[in-house]
Amino acid sequence: MGSVQIQCTRCKNVFRDRAARLQDGYSRQCPSCEVVLFFTEDSQHPFVKRAMRNARKARKEQREAEAVRRAAPEPRLAGSRSFAGRTQSAGRED
Ligand SMILES: [Zn+2]
Repeated sequence: MGSVQIQCTRCKNVFRDRAARLQDGYSRQCPSCEVVLFFTEDSQHPFVKRAMRNARKARKEQREAEAVRRAAPEPRLAGSRSFAGRTQSAGRED
């Protein structure tokens, strides 16, 4: 989950790496020709720029998916709180 395609700037081989790792200052070796690729936000190389852009997009989508998962249990918590309140007021009436 959350991996992006990277194209080697030297041998043009395409491989994949995790979007979470592909951030400014990251470097890794091409599995094919073993050249070290550097990933920086200000890179002028179109292959590097594309990989950085795809990684940013993948991380954003992952954050949004996590935010939706975290937000989901909240309505249930609010529901149990109002239920407890009703039980208390019913006790006072007795
Ligand atoms: Zn290569």
